[in-house]
Amino acid sequence: GAGLYIVATPIGNAGDITLRALDILRGVDAIACEDTRVTGKLLRRYGIRTRMLPYHDHNAAKMRPVLLDKVANGQAIALVSDAGTPLVSDPGFKLVREAKDRGLSLTHLPGANAAITALVLSGLPSDRFLFGGFLPAKSAARRTELELFRTLPATLIFYESAQRLAEMLADVTASLGNREVAVARELTKLFEEVRRGPASDLSTYYTEKGPPKGEVVVVIGPPAEGAAASDAADMDSLLKQALSGG
Ligand code: SAM
Repeated sequence: GAGLYIVATPIGNAGDITLRALDILRGVDAIACEDTRVTGKLLRRYGIRTRMLPYHDHNAAKMRPVLLDKVANGQAIALVSDAGTPLVSDPGFKLVREAKDRGLSLTHLPGANAAITALVLSGLPSDRFLFGGFLPAKSAARRTELELFRTLPATLIFYESAQRLAEMLADVTASLGNREVAVARELTKLFEEVRRGPASDLSTYYTEKGPPKGEVVVVIGPPAEGAAASDAADMDSLLKQALSGG
């Protein structure tokens, strides 16, 4: 039926798309996508001939009302990104927001996502995590942003470019301490690899070896129990001091 369908697509292995996603992509009136070449390749693979409309950072403001008017007029429109789940470090947030504001029918077909896949394979605590998207490209700004998460008792997940990986891991060591880190790359692909170790060891490894091939996710373990506990103990004694007027 009419509505906006946010559809997840594979992050590498073309088989990682749901049967429902294929049905919807086949059945909608148009598919809004970041890059018609990337999405065209996926559609060809599954024999889907639905019309594609470009929706990317440079035309989004203009295309948003066009797409939402189509939905309001009874069409079914799907949104996909180049890979994985739209809106997750990809376009789509404003489209969803405005669709909701206009009371249009809206649903998500869940599927592949690099952050969750990396977390699952990291061997790091998965009970509580923060997804931080991409950090700033410059080291100083990156360190400042990492500092924000220093005392957060949670696993941290970041997307990063392979080129910046070694420098980013050095910044992690500087800003968060030498935590246990997992670098996940080429997820769901032939050369999928998850390398785990202290941040400084991995930084040295990638400095010597050069940037790895393919896309990477960096998963950073929470602060050590001891570190959190000693922070808490410090707070305790500070509080007691303050209350006793000393
Ligand atoms: N929307 C996507 C998702 O749901 O994961 C993320 C898009 S974001 C523009 C691209 C980043 O995701 C890459 O720079 C990399 O950090 C990560 N990524 C995507 N596919 C990956 C893969 N197969 N292996 C490792 N990282 C991947």
